Order: sequence, then C-alpha cells, then structure tokens
Amino acid sequence: MKRLAVLLTLLSAAVQAQPVSPNRLLTAYPNFLARTDGNTLIWKDGARTPFAGGHTFTSPADRLNRPDLSAMLGQLYPACTALHPPAYGEDPGRARPAAFFGRMYGMTPAAVKANLVSVNWFGQPLMFSRINGANLALEAVARDLSLRSDLRRYLTPSAGTYVWRVVAGSSRRSAHSWGVAIDLNTRYSDYWQWEGRREFAPGILYRNRLPQAVVWAFEKRGFVWGGRWYHHDTMHFEFRPELGGC
Ligand SMILES: [Zn+2]
Repeated sequence: MKRLAVLLTLLSAAVQAQPVSPNRLLTAYPNFLARTDGNTLIWKDGARTPFAGGHTFTSPADRLNRPDLSAMLGQLYPACTALHPPAYGEDPGRARPAAFFGRMYGMTPAAVKANLVSVNWFGQPLMFSRINGANLALEAVARDLSLRSDLRRYLTPSAGTYVWRVVAGSSRRSAHSWGVAIDLNTRYSDYWQWEGRREFAPGILYRNRLPQAVVWAFEKRGFVWGGRWYHHDTMHFEFRPELGGC
C-alpha cells in the first residue's frame, strides 16, 4: 500500500511538471483568440495578453491569488484518467486569471447575465452561458448521462450554476460568476473547506463519493472537476475546454 502511495505521488508530480500548451487556448476559444506571438496571446479584437504577467510568485497561494496565463496553464489536467487523491498542491484549473475569463464571459453581472440561457438539467432549469458553447456542452453531458438512472442521485438536484461571487474565504472570482460552473447534489459531495482547514495546509483529508462515470462524462465535454484538486470540491464542474476533453 505504501509503495502504491509513493507511486501515486510520483505520478502526480509528473503530471504537475507538464504545462498545458498555450495552443490549447486557441483551439478552445476560437471565437475570441486569434494567435500567439512569442509570449503574448493576441485576441481577435487586437488586444494582447502576456502569458507571464511580469510578477514573480512568492508562494503557491500568491500564484493562485493573482495568476497569469502561464500559472493557469502550469498544471496539466488529467482528463479521463482513473480517479486518484491529488498530491499536495495539485490543483489543475483552479487558478483563473479573472481578466481573461471576464473578457469572454462578461466583466459585470449584467454582462454575464445577458448571455445566460436555460439548460434542462434532468427537469431542473439551470442558467448557463451560451458563450463558447458552454450551454451546449452541459446539454451534451445531460444527454450522455440520461440513460444512467443509477447515477441520477449524484446529478440532481443541482446546487446551482450562475452566482456572481468570489470563492469562499478568498478574493478570487469563482467560475460560477461567469455562468460556466455547475454544482451537483451536495448530499454526495465533499469539500476541503468543510474540514475547517487553512488553504494550503498539509494533510487535507481527501474524500470523494462521485463515481468515475460522472466525472468522465463531464471531462469528455470539456469540463474540469473540483475532485481532481488537492483543495477538493467534488460537487463542482466548470467548462474549461483548454484543460478538459479526452
Ligand atoms: Zn462550484
């Protein structure tokens, strides 16, 4: 068992060492992004976003609190691989430069809401962004899982999608603010903050009750899962096609 734990830790370290290619951004967001120019991302409207923002990160918390694109792409998301407890600090997709996502989905509640449409989630109407086809991706997940009545209890009722808010206990904008995140049934969920631990405290106890089939159905459609984070949030999925997809 101990040997297995060591192996998993080594595998996790390997996962973290591989950054995501910036080209995946171009493939994921073709309506917004035109090309890369050296270390700069060029938007279709001519705006330019440097991959590295010129700030030297002093700690993992600093990197998470004000990430640039390089920090966002710094950890490879292991989509559609077997579920495992993430290693310390393994949080692929949890760093989100707010300016990057705000530019696509909206910088204000009114701007985000203008692009929310209703998605039928097993009879429950949920508001989701139509930008980048996020709503279509969520509908596809529902369609793919519609025949699995054995999984329904994990999926519904959803605890919600759009809320303009920051991540609990931080000043970071949550992906729920952009209408691209969904929380599943809290009854079968586990969340690191429910343990009452400090962020980045070592030894946060990992727990997950969500079946792999649910996780893979979302990942196949470009979502990332909070259960793949050291700071685990197993009810949470967000549309991040630059990281997800199998
Ligand atoms: Zn959530």
